[in-house]
Amino acid sequence: MPFLHQKAPGAPEPAGPAASWSPARLAALAGLAEGTGPALEVTSPSEGRPLAVVRQAREGEARAAVDRAREAQRAWAARPVRERAAVGHRFARLVLDRRDEILDLLQAETGKARLAALEEVMDASRTAAYYAHAAPRLLRPQRHVGALPLLTRSTELRHPKGVVGVITPWNYPFTLPASDSVPALLAGNAVVIKPDHQTPLTALLVLALLREAGLPEGVARVVPGTGPVTGAELVDAVDYVMFTGSTATGRAIAARCGERLIGFSGELGGKNPLLVLPDADIPAAAVGAARACFSNAGQLCVGPERIYVHEAVRERFTEAFVAEVAGMRMGPGTSWETQLGSLTSPEHLARVHSQLDDAVARGARVLTGGAARPDVGPLFFAPTVLADVPESAALCREETFGPIVAVYPVASEEEAFARANDTPYGLNASLWTAPSRGRRLGARLEAGTVNVNEGYSAAWGTHSAAMGGWKESGLGRRHGPEGLLKYTEAQTIAVQRLLPIAPWPGLGGERWA
Ligand code: NAD
Repeated sequence: MPFLHQKAPGAPEPAGPAASWSPARLAALAGLAEGTGPALEVTSPSEGRPLAVVRQAREGEARAAVDRAREAQRAWAARPVRERAAVGHRFARLVLDRRDEILDLLQAETGKARLAALEEVMDASRTAAYYAHAAPRLLRPQRHVGALPLLTRSTELRHPKGVVGVITPWNYPFTLPASDSVPALLAGNAVVIKPDHQTPLTALLVLALLREAGLPEGVARVVPGTGPVTGAELVDAVDYVMFTGSTATGRAIAARCGERLIGFSGELGGKNPLLVLPDADIPAAAVGAARACFSNAGQLCVGPERIYVHEAVRERFTEAFVAEVAGMRMGPGTSWETQLGSLTSPEHLARVHSQLDDAVARGARVLTGGAARPDVGPLFFAPTVLADVPESAALCREETFGPIVAVYPVASEEEAFARANDTPYGLNASLWTAPSRGRRLGARLEAGTVNVNEGYSAAWGTHSAAMGGWKESGLGRRHGPEGLLKYTEAQTIAVQRLLPIAPWPGLGGERWA
């Protein structure tokens, strides 16, 4: 894809995070979208300037994209697994080689800090590298023996599902389309990606890089558009849906997949707890909690939003934590020193603000932060720590998905675990304690990932192990063998050798016919 390297002849480079993306390059990227519908102007939230215009899909265009993907899929699936895996290897490498321009575009489209953007680059590359190595092994035909081993030889095959719909949100708009598409593709499927309408450009960059890595034209496609129109049409046309987003939307899509009897995997919301026990390393817990709670300005599905701290260490932890948070650096721009970027949309900032206002009106105390920071730039919000949040406040139980965390004292470890688990969600939990007790105590938490003496990234960064949500936080898993095998249909072929003898009633030897 040579256009990725092209600078518009003579055009001045824009200032700010989109430095490596001239208007001409952005327009070329936007041109990869499949849509002839209404124009969507994508703007940079932290700078408020227009980036590119993307045409959204009209009614019928998502279905047409699936039909075209289905044709391309047959030839792709016929290729040997090792050839498909080679595309995964090249994609993993390419993402690292092109990290600067990926970071620039991610920052421009979402307003996130460069450090948070780097997490996406590393996650996408490592996920692709893992599946490129693992796919040939996971997809190899598996031999089995029947009840009468000498007579029956069975082989379990893994066929691709066909076309996978990948529906993604705006908070991790590069790694989610990449990390969910790569295993589906390596399993021999085609994918049609429906990114959030606020962040189509980074999904289109994933498409461009996949093609550059050698993916044949047409096997992956991107259809920008709204959820209720384009997303719903996609769900009605594909053979499997991989969805990341809110629990409410995931529930509705899962119901539709149930009606159609197609597979569904959902990575949904969370209200993640972080526990600080008396035997924790308190200075380390304060630093680690601050980093985890405010990574990506809190717009992170696995980020902690509730801290349960044991009375014995409450004062020491809270003081150190609040000092750490108050000193966090935020701002636009490409500095690696910046810890928080802006929020991604004015609507989201308003939602975060209204949850905070409601909690404060009900008696919550602001220990630090507590306000938007237009002086830093549009859509910036100070990292905020609250105490005394009452049960009646929405912030106590509902996902905030922004830079606000509440600290709750607990009188015992029992109470810490009981309150941590008292939620309809079960995505991620963080536990700060002596390492020797970590695994045993971690297993008491009702969550798909538990990070001991880390906030979220120890488990998130382990690509060979399953990741996903319990309870209302999800269905199915990404990462690990399950993250690839879910995109396949198993088929067992049992070959009867010698005489056709029935294995069960016929242990005595009678024939079927
Ligand atoms: P959302 O559910 O509103 O939207 C997610 C995607 O679904 C978007 O592309 C949207 O256009 C599409 N969509 C909406 N309605 C649809 C429909 N009826 N049919 C098909 N598609 C439809 O979520 P959001 O608010 O954009 O994202 C934030 C949420 O995502 C948070 O709850 C967060 O916790 C969750 N999330 C979870 C993970 C995870 O791995 N568990 C990762 C990132 C974000």
